[in-house]
Amino acid sequence: GIPSNPNDSVITFLLFTELLPFPVSLAELSLMNKLIHTSLVESQQHVEILQRDPNSPLFSIKTFEELPLKKELLQGVYMMGFNRPSKIQEQALPLMLAYPPQNLIAQSQSGTGKTAAFVLAMLSRADASKKYPQCLCLAPTYELALQIGQVVRTIGKFCTDIKVNYAVRGNRVLKGTVLEEQIIIGTPGTTLDWCFKQRILDLTKISLFVLDEADIMIDMQGLSCQSIRIHRALPKSCQVLLFSATYKEPVRAFAERIIPDPIVIKLREEELTLSNIRQYFMVCQSMDEQYRALCNLYSSFIIGQVMIFCQTRRLADWLAGKMSQDGHQVAILTAELTVVQRASVIQRFREGKEKVLIATNVCARGIDVQQVTTVVNFGLPVDLDGEPDYETYLHRIGRAGRFGHRGIAFSVVQADNVRLVHKIEEYFREHPH
Ligand code: ADP
Repeated sequence: GIPSNPNDSVITFLLFTELLPFPVSLAELSLMNKLIHTSLVESQQHVEILQRDPNSPLFSIKTFEELPLKKELLQGVYMMGFNRPSKIQEQALPLMLAYPPQNLIAQSQSGTGKTAAFVLAMLSRADASKKYPQCLCLAPTYELALQIGQVVRTIGKFCTDIKVNYAVRGNRVLKGTVLEEQIIIGTPGTTLDWCFKQRILDLTKISLFVLDEADIMIDMQGLSCQSIRIHRALPKSCQVLLFSATYKEPVRAFAERIIPDPIVIKLREEELTLSNIRQYFMVCQSMDEQYRALCNLYSSFIIGQVMIFCQTRRLADWLAGKMSQDGHQVAILTAELTVVQRASVIQRFREGKEKVLIATNVCARGIDVQQVTTVVNFGLPVDLDGEPDYETYLHRIGRAGRFGHRGIAFSVVQADNVRLVHKIEEYFREHPH
């Protein structure tokens, strides 16, 4: 039977009243991943190339030296510490830098080297002797635009005559301003304003147009329409490059409106797998017992770092407080932190400054912390009907087993939730991953 420990009613209450998560927008998630990915995300997948035009043979490169890059840019690449092109860059860079210029759609997950690739293309195409905008890059948000600018500044460190300006809110320009920067990075709204209202940005002189994060653009009201309006005013000869982390139907439809007969380079996302993860379930009678089970696990089984997932923020806060009182170094990731704070929490964890990271699923969705091989579910993820949330379960623990790692997942659950354990077991037996 279910014991009548007062804590039980508390946890039941917590689990079923705070299920509506704080939404973390795709743009925020993308920014967070950019701040976190200070090194390349390696992939075991093959690059797929679609709609290959038989008249333009494609080739790939294995070194940066094979590319038609000026020496200042190669210096920039070396300074960044890039030894060799990433998988997506091997295929995309020769195309992006080819003559005559080619249009391209490239899709790969965050951290695989897309930004570095198109930044190289912009710096390569920009003619420093001409003092007007030639490359235009659109990003969904202010923060993402600035982030790209940061990459331009670092890779372009030795291209001292190439300048950047930002068409973003808050960057006020007067009518009649003459833009001398070769590269403009902006959000669609302000860029439109600069083109058609302020009339300071002449789109007819743009020879390279980059659309970054197309999937986020179409997710955010109005941005895709604004991008299309900008695109329409570009000269026919303008090279167009479009990037996206995903390539589902709406993204595809949007992308093909902008680039009608595209070459598409895709790097499939690393699959989440349960096949090399051992899953253990522990059934406890109360929340205190759940906590003791967790501490026992921690002191006896867990070597290295662990990520602990809680269904709600309140539970995560409670657990973090309790573990800190007991002398553990814990970090906590919840939605009330700003994006930059969240990125910094993850960054510290990646550097090993904390051994335990407690997170709610909303916050942890889509975030890569590659070195964690032990995951604890402090309570199982459930949906609004109180049924197991299989996808979240897979996302929480599947990361522990990526790149051939062997992972362990512990789920510490209350006795009245044993049926969830059985359902999870059954589900993944029928839908193996
Ligand atoms: P994406 O745009 O796909 O998210 P980025 O271009 O931002 O990926 O690259 C992710 C991280 O990997 C960045 O820190 C970047 O400096 C680094 N990086 C990019 N290309 C390479 C490369 N060829 N070699 C090593 N590191 C790279």
